[in-house]
Amino acid sequence: MKICLFGGTFDPPHIGHLLIAQTIFESEHFDKLFFIPALNPPHKDSDAITPIEHRVNMLELAIKDNPHFEISDLEVKRGGVSYTIDTIQSIKKENGFGSDDLYFLLGSDTLKSFHKWKEPESILDECQVIVAVRPGFRPSDIPAWILSQIRFANLPRIEISATTIRERWRTDKTIRYMVTQPVWEYINKKNLYL
Ligand code: ATP
Repeated sequence: MKICLFGGTFDPPHIGHLLIAQTIFESEHFDKLFFIPALNPPHKDSDAITPIEHRVNMLELAIKDNPHFEISDLEVKRGGVSYTIDTIQSIKKENGFGSDDLYFLLGSDTLKSFHKWKEPESILDECQVIVAVRPGFRPSDIPAWILSQIRFANLPRIEISATTIRERWRTDKTIRYMVTQPVWEYINKKNLYL
């Protein structure tokens, strides 16, 4: 089994997430890709994040038609702060995956603060980190010991972020085509991001 983990806040999940996940799934021939919504992302203000039930519901709506995608509720069930290294280690332990079979997908913006994550060296040892380049990325901002242990994936670059989507929604601009239609309907129905 060759598995890819894709952690994030997904507030909301958008087509940037879906498109890079699908592209990497295909090019790397993964057996499964797990979206892992973070309960309490260490680097984000928890008061400013949408409650986890909504984020999970939106993720379910976003990926429901894709048999290759699944949601892992590991960080939700574990509680506390959602550290990536804890997630990687428990997934490996539960499923008997080796470090070569387990991949972790992240966007290049997160690389800038990667050295401040919990046990960054262990993350790089325990799985294969694949990076999706986002607009504005400069490799010179990243320490060499990180650059030497990650791989950049050849993925479409999509200039879209959850922050932009929330901001647009709040200011009455359209977010059509930035999220899937069922996610759009959910945001509308539940009055999120106002
Ligand atoms: P926010 O704007 O709220 O910080 P985000 O759009 O970056 O959110 P997250 O849920 O924080 O979304 O991201 C989860 C992962 O997906 C991160 O590794 C992030 O870098 C990556 N990611 C998000 N959007 C894109 C994109 N358009 N292209 C490539 N990677 C992305």
